[in-house]
Amino acid sequence: MTTERSIAHRMTIAYLVGLTLLAVLSSAVHFLLDGVIVQQQDSATVINVAGRQRMLSQRIALLAADMEDGKADARNQMLEAAQAMERAQDALINGGDLGIARALSPAARALYFDGPAPLDAKVRSYLGAVARYAAGGDDATGAYTQITRMARSELLPDLDAAVKLFEREAQDDVAWMRTAQKVVLATLLLTLALEAVFIFHPLVRMVRNYAAHLYEMATQDGLTGLPNRRHFMETADRQFQIARRTGQPLAALVLDLDHFKQINDTHGHATGDAVLRHFAEVATRVLRAGDMISRTGGEEFALMLPLMNRSGALTVAEKLRQAIAEQPDEALPAITVSVGVSISDPADRSVEELLRRADKALYDAKAAGRNRVSLILAT
Ligand code: GH3
Ligand code: MG
Ligand code: MG
Repeated sequence: MTTERSIAHRMTIAYLVGLTLLAVLSSAVHFLLDGVIVQQQDSATVINVAGRQRMLSQRIALLAADMEDGKADARNQMLEAAQAMERAQDALINGGDLGIARALSPAARALYFDGPAPLDAKVRSYLGAVARYAAGGDDATGAYTQITRMARSELLPDLDAAVKLFEREAQDDVAWMRTAQKVVLATLLLTLALEAVFIFHPLVRMVRNYAAHLYEMATQDGLTGLPNRRHFMETADRQFQIARRTGQPLAALVLDLDHFKQINDTHGHATGDAVLRHFAEVATRVLRAGDMISRTGGEEFALMLPLMNRSGALTVAEKLRQAIAEQPDEALPAITVSVGVSISDPADRSVEELLRRADKALYDAKAAGRNRVSLILAT
């Protein structure tokens, strides 16, 4: 019982650990998906802003050309575009604006800041040229030349490279997330399988074994392993009802070992127990499969025989009596048994009536000298 309890205790812990692991893994899946969504949103914004930078650089050059041609509102539009481009540049580099949450990756940082001609410096220089051109001072012609040159040959390929880099990074992120997702899913399924094999299956087996054990304890006699009185009475009652419905005969046998008290007194209780077990073995051997002999009391046994008429019941009773008397266990004291027999009668209202008659017959057998079979018919 203590081992069963400790097994149950261990199983409960294992079960809880398994459930916790599943909860952790499920949460991991949740946060992973959440991370994927946030990251994808951010990546989309970054790609979008970087694309807009490319577009703004070209728009600024076109507006500068318009301004050169003397178009009225070109200057203001150009300054507005330059302002937008500067704000976007700050957001791309530092994050925290225009819906961009994260800072640059090392690769992007290298593109913007490293090397002989870093992109950030180019953008700032381009915007500086725009400001100088808009101011219209001595330097305006030089600034206009710089704008046209940079827009076409210096800035455009780099801004293009930035967009491509951000796109590639987004794709890499997705690939990484998908791998992580697969690993988590595999771990989840593996955990479920391990739980099924190492927790649920043993748990079910333990419950099943224990239920079988309880059933055995409730229906069997511990000493002989024969069905106990309760189990016998249930079965006997069922058999009685069937016999009554179908009008078939049913015989009851009640057996009691003779002078058993003397065996206990002479040889001790342990020998008495061994004799009871020996009796159960011999009786079971003699009977047909399906005939249920039960230990209904200390040294008292009972038997129901469906479809058995008077002569058949007497034959079985006699066979049992002889087998007990003639098959002694050399190591045990010899025993005899007295048998009371009764046959069901249409007037019987319950199985108890049938058994009461068999008990009376047993009393007769004892009174007549024991080691014999006696029958009482319904009057
Ligand atoms: P009779 O021939 O009239 O039946 O005599 P008896 O001695 O068999 O009958 P009695 O009822 O006087 O004694 C039955 C004895 O069975 C008394 C009791 O100690 C013994 N007994 C009951 N259950 C057990 C058991 O489980 N083991 C052992 N060893 N003895 C038991
Ligand atoms: Mg008795
Ligand atoms: Mg007895």
